[in-house]
Amino acid sequence: MARKPIIVGNWKMNKLRSEAEEFMKGIEAYLTGEEKADYGIAAPFTCVDVCVKNAKHLIVGAENCNQKDSGAFTGEVSVPMLEEIGITYCIIGHSERRTYYNETNEACAAKAKRLFASNITPILCIGETEAQYDAGETADVIKTQLHGSLAGLTAEEVSRIVIAYEPIWAIGTGKSADKDIAENCCKLVRDTVREMYGEKAAEAVRVQYGGSVKPNNIAEYMACPDIDGALIGGASLKVDSFIEIIDATK
Ligand code: PGA
Repeated sequence: MARKPIIVGNWKMNKLRSEAEEFMKGIEAYLTGEEKADYGIAAPFTCVDVCVKNAKHLIVGAENCNQKDSGAFTGEVSVPMLEEIGITYCIIGHSERRTYYNETNEACAAKAKRLFASNITPILCIGETEAQYDAGETADVIKTQLHGSLAGLTAEEVSRIVIAYEPIWAIGTGKSADKDIAENCCKLVRDTVREMYGEKAAEAVRVQYGGSVKPNNIAEYMACPDIDGALIGGASLKVDSFIEIIDATK
């Protein structure tokens, strides 16, 4: 069965509620629901309810969650809280969270498990630093992150997860990975899933490329056999640019 492409904007720490509403209205006016791909955005916690309220065809995701249901975890947001709002996707393990907030592979595994229990699809981010890339360690990093972050999931869960391969050196730098590098790494992600969970999960899992994806380069990534979509930061913030991305992937 062909995998449905999935293209998700990651707003990071951007947008006030009024701006989120304006964006949602602008994109929803453009979508028909007949598109061949899933389109969505991941929004800051303060905006997610506004986004859900204004969503017709767009997926609305969160950018993080805590793996515990409740308790003394000041500043954190739990999966039941996201579920209550109607969130259906959640980014975990983004490199900015791994770097600035110590998000580990173990935490990713626990978050993924908890998200699936609420029927929320995790978008698991992995990827190497520039130093690791230069040292030829990319494949080892990808495999280690996948083994750690997918630990404890069932093959059925893994078949439904979204994995975003994002080389850290390409994020927010304008230095997007060459399409052959992106394809090889996304293929390695799929091959690793195959080793860990079997053929069915490997064929079903959707693998995104992320890192300086723009309207003018997304089509070449989407043409690669093992790339099923993109996770997009900067170019997902403006309605015009998001519409150009939709046009380039229709
Ligand atoms: P970018 O961000 O598209 O701005 O490089 C991608 C990401 O962080 O997911």
